[in-house]
Amino acid sequence: MRKHLLMPTAAVKYVTDISPELIRELGIDAILLDVDNTLAPPASHIAYEGVQEWLDMLKANHIAVVICSNNYRKRVKPFSDSVGLECVSMSLKPFPFGFNRAKKKLKEKPQSVLVVGDQIYTDVLGANLAGMKSVLLVPRDEEHGLTIMLRRKLEVNIRKKIAIRGN
Ligand SMILES: [Mg+2]
Repeated sequence: MRKHLLMPTAAVKYVTDISPELIRELGIDAILLDVDNTLAPPASHIAYEGVQEWLDMLKANHIAVVICSNNYRKRVKPFSDSVGLECVSMSLKPFPFGFNRAKKKLKEKPQSVLVVGDQIYTDVLGANLAGMKSVLLVPRDEEHGLTIMLRRKLEVNIRKKIAIRGN
């Protein structure tokens, strides 16, 4: 696999660190947002501190937002409803199916879309394959399961090469 497919456009610690300045710099009009370890702890329906205010900031800056998660609809939909966003669940990242479904809702060109998430092998790889931009986050909470543990192991060496802004 070519290495650049695993490199994000930028990296920050928390989703709320994505500032209006960074959004302007990236030149994007829409964001596809991961849920687990991005907006809320895995399986939790309570968003991380500051997330609602950050979403309000996006709205004020006319950035369209769709939640795009690999998790099940029964996890993703109630959370999306609670923060007032549309969602695509079971999106099969890094494959393009979910991003394409989300993109249809947005009517944006791929280069105007930013994918935000905490995983290189789903969020970042998927964004790069779709020709979208990406911001990688630092995972905040443990996620259990064989495939996530494997993906986290694969991420270790790549993360060493990625500078986290503001750190
Ligand atoms: Mg995640």
